[in-house]
Amino acid sequence: METTCTFCNKGAPYMPQKEMEQYGAKVYYCKRCHAEYIHWEGGARATTSIYITINDKLYRWSYANLSWDKMPTARLWYIEHPGIPGETRNQGCVVLASFGPHGTHGTSIPDITPRNVKQKIKTYLVML
Ligand SMILES: [Zn+2]
Repeated sequence: METTCTFCNKGAPYMPQKEMEQYGAKVYYCKRCHAEYIHWEGGARATTSIYITINDKLYRWSYANLSWDKMPTARLWYIEHPGIPGETRNQGCVVLASFGPHGTHGTSIPDITPRNVKQKIKTYLVML
């Protein structure tokens, strides 16, 4: 079982995480792009995330593919205790910035990809 990675268009394998499965969430992970996809049971993609390490700290850029009001929202997270893809989930996740209609750092969603994620997030970290 796999999904297609948005960024490289290759297969991202299913990496089940026990705790996420309890919520009916299926986790897929593309190692090439450090991109994580969470699908709801039944197939719809709920969120897309890109992970990046800056100065030995792990950050996650996540945006909702589906949300209750159909408005896309994106968040920048700091991951205090990173999990292991396919094994454990992240712990100690802190929202640093949010974007979208109700965002605290802008109402539009920045176009962030594995290619530009480092530069863009460095810029946000300076502003925070
Ligand atoms: Zn990929």
